[in-house]
Amino acid sequence: MTRPIRIAVTGPCGSIGYSILFRIAAGDLFGREQPIELRLLARDSPESQAKLKGTMMELSDCAFPLLAEMKGFTDEKQLFDGAECVFLIGAQPRKDGMDRSDLLRANGEIFRRQGRALNEMASRDVRVLVVGNPCNTNAYIAMRNAPDLKRECFSAMMRLDQNRAMARVAEKINAPVSGVEQVFVWGNHSNTMYPDIRFLRYKGHRLADQFDPQWQEEFIKNVATRGGQIIKARGASSAASAASAAIDHMRDWILGSEGMCTMAVPSDGSYGIPEGLVFGFPCLCPGEARYQIINNLPMTPDVRQRLAVTRDELLAEANAVADLLA
Ligand code: NDP
Repeated sequence: MTRPIRIAVTGPCGSIGYSILFRIAAGDLFGREQPIELRLLARDSPESQAKLKGTMMELSDCAFPLLAEMKGFTDEKQLFDGAECVFLIGAQPRKDGMDRSDLLRANGEIFRRQGRALNEMASRDVRVLVVGNPCNTNAYIAMRNAPDLKRECFSAMMRLDQNRAMARVAEKINAPVSGVEQVFVWGNHSNTMYPDIRFLRYKGHRLADQFDPQWQEEFIKNVATRGGQIIKARGASSAASAASAAIDHMRDWILGSEGMCTMAVPSDGSYGIPEGLVFGFPCLCPGEARYQIINNLPMTPDVRQRLAVTRDELLAEANAVADLLA
């Protein structure tokens, strides 16, 4: 029988965690032939422990054939022991009166600790996806605190932004989203992101020239503010769509992507983005848990300017947490 893949998840009882676990265990991540082990982190409080217990009871009651083993932990080192695939979802939510920099520091501590624990305990080939916000900088902090792991082990999630952009394009052209290709998002998972449709194709045919500049500006704003629109509409933040995007990201990374996909990964210096900064790039994943940044796309002064804005925001975030970097 195929050896189970060991998957660790933080924040398993939050909204995204509760949605992703059942899909992973059903086989949506690695397919219906690949058994898995789930290792789940709960905080050391009676409420968190109770929620984890209930979630594990439900997972057990699904009788998923692929779920070979499931364990709960409060200790991050034990959680990551031998982990091959890691979803870092748990993060402190923004509270009233907190600005982005307060959130950055509160979560920075969590990701520093988790980076160190991964460095010590995880498989040397671990693949880590940071979802908890601010996800690019949290991934940067974790990576910098894991010097014995290759930096290519770390990524942050901007696939939801790509999926949102693809869905808006499909609505605009009144066609199924399955034919939308070569849409991706640059930069930080924040309002400064740049969703790029210059290379857009529909079923292999170029489309990008058909959109007027005013629509394109609205589209960029719409994608960047979609999270806020969801909160307003449903009274809670994106959860199932975020879980779905996390599965898309990890599956493409490990098993291979069909075409371009957006991953926030440590920069290799492409497009003048400082090395190591975790930045949303168009990538290709050839399989075997590898990715390549597509580094030869043409730039215009306008695009360069948009990339500079989101790069500078990430540099400012990195600066604000400089003392948390190893
Ligand atoms: P929830 O508030 O529903 O759940 C948060 C989870 O994080 C809970 O499991 C909670 O644990 C855990 N947690 C809270 N505080 C801490 C802490 N101090 N230390 C460790 N764990 C903690 O949030 P969601 O599931 O909706 O979202 C999770 C994260 O994902 C958020 O940061 C959100 O902003 C981000 N996100 C990212 C997206 C992206 O595209 N990158 C898209 C959407 C969301 P407990 O159960 O013990 O309370």
